[in-house]
Amino acid sequence: MLNLFVTSEHMLRKSLNPIDWFKLFKESYQLAQVRTFLLYGFKNNKDNFLIKDAGVKGKGLFSKKAFKKGGLVFLMDGPTRFFKAETPEECYIYPDWYSVGKNIWIEPAPFFNHINHSCNPNLGLRTSREFVARRDIEPGEELNFDYSSTDDELPWVMNCSCGEASCRKEVGAIQLLSEQQYERLLPYVPKYFQTLRENYLRGKS
Ligand SMILES: [Zn+2]
Repeated sequence: MLNLFVTSEHMLRKSLNPIDWFKLFKESYQLAQVRTFLLYGFKNNKDNFLIKDAGVKGKGLFSKKAFKKGGLVFLMDGPTRFFKAETPEECYIYPDWYSVGKNIWIEPAPFFNHINHSCNPNLGLRTSREFVARRDIEPGEELNFDYSSTDDELPWVMNCSCGEASCRKEVGAIQLLSEQQYERLLPYVPKYFQTLRENYLRGKS
């Protein structure tokens, strides 16, 4: 199964055209699995991870093994969804989802949905589902990524208490990051969001 079913009331309001369906298919977990296996011989191994208490953040995803900087850590599992927030309030309907394209989202499957945000993350995204180590990772470390690297909804804002010296306190859309904050995340920002930010800033200047 391709897990492309449109399930929510908000999504049912939208009638999908063939291009939207193709985009959903292109971002599907099944295709990503084939791609990463062919390119890197990589397959997800959930035994490398565990879920446990992460303090004020609630539960978190932790690594049981070491990963080298630049190495592929896991492939995000879960269905691709089509959703467009029609109001600022609707940006908060699916807090676990992250965006991978225009109105295209991934709903992280149970287990990997426990990955928390950090303003100084040890993971970044190489493609829409490939989570890569931004630095060497030791066994026992909590895994996290910067939620701003996958969100373009300008009204969306999340309070942060990640505890990092570089904590932004408020996390928002990728367009709103300072140049310095954005460059720290590169190169592990999906191409879609790199282009989107460049176009946004060019339009504003
Ligand atoms: Zn923070």
